[in-house]
Amino acid sequence: MPRPLLATIHTAALANNLACVRQRAPKSKVWAVVKANAYGHGLARAFPGLRATDGFGLLDLEEAVKLRELGWAGPILLLEGFFRPTDIDVIDRYSLTTTVHSDEQLRMLEMARLSKPVNIQLKMNSGMNRLGYTPEKFRAAWERARACPGVGQIVLMTHFSDADGERGIDYQIDAFERGAEGIAGARSLSNSAATLWHPRAHFDWVRPGIILYGASPSGVTASVADVGLQPAMTLASELIAVQTLAKGQTVGYGSMFTAPAPMRIGVVACGYADGYLRCAPEGTPIIVDGVRTRLVGRVSMDMLTVDLTPCPTANVGSRVELWGAQLPIDDVARACGTIGYELMCAVAQRVPVLAE
Ligand code: PLP
Repeated sequence: MPRPLLATIHTAALANNLACVRQRAPKSKVWAVVKANAYGHGLARAFPGLRATDGFGLLDLEEAVKLRELGWAGPILLLEGFFRPTDIDVIDRYSLTTTVHSDEQLRMLEMARLSKPVNIQLKMNSGMNRLGYTPEKFRAAWERARACPGVGQIVLMTHFSDADGERGIDYQIDAFERGAEGIAGARSLSNSAATLWHPRAHFDWVRPGIILYGASPSGVTASVADVGLQPAMTLASELIAVQTLAKGQTVGYGSMFTAPAPMRIGVVACGYADGYLRCAPEGTPIIVDGVRTRLVGRVSMDMLTVDLTPCPTANVGSRVELWGAQLPIDDVARACGTIGYELMCAVAQRVPVLAE
């Protein structure tokens, strides 16, 4: 018998979330971002729910090839571009669109022997200061790309650092417009946060990731529930043991939790080797038998422990939801001092996944 732990991927929720994106940015085409194995959901499992997109954005060539093998014939965008001349053979063979953010990449494209021109997204560094040409150098890069016979269509692109934060996007849009002034061509700027909250940034293509999976770009649950997003993953397990502690007894490694009074503790088949964060503190929300309770004690490799006080009838075999349809992943992430992205991406290979 396998351990009672399962990640269920909700195909209808993915399709719903993509439809929400379309409502939010009705004039834009959509790159559905499926990097990092579709944010931990599994590329093959997420694909059917997202296939109404205009294109897929991801990082790894292997994932791009896998998408082609799944039957996707539409556009695929490499969000960071490529690293070696041999990567361009794969780009050519599988008709990928690539980001170009540096002269090294342009040089490789100039030297490449291609069967047809490669479509690119030329990336401007408008303030994130990770990848891309500064606004001052952007026009020269664009002219060089345009003159390269190996380059086909050129979309102008930038990436926001603070679309979910206080600083916002205006300073980057201003920089982008300055650098791209007078350059014709489609534009691609918005991640999830800008897709939700900054219509000014929508332009021709939006590039949402996290909202397709039903979580918030900022970790604020209310603001995504409003928009009608639905969780695309439920991580669920069961109680595999129940302990009754006397007042003063402790549970788990490090004796991190001491029972203040006699109480029942449930042992759940999920631990940090499954991707549940070891740093999750006491009080992190967990659902047992449909009732919201809390983590107690330290998360161990294969197990974690919960307070059964609010669910007195819970017993071995009771259903436990770590996050998903009944418990927003953003609530769990907030308790752990992180964001839903990290929790999703951390789900381990050993966790069985089922798409429904
Ligand atoms: N565009 C680019 C270039 C990215 O790197 C990412 C992810 O980091 C996204 C879009 C999607 O971001 P999000 O998941 O916040 O929507």
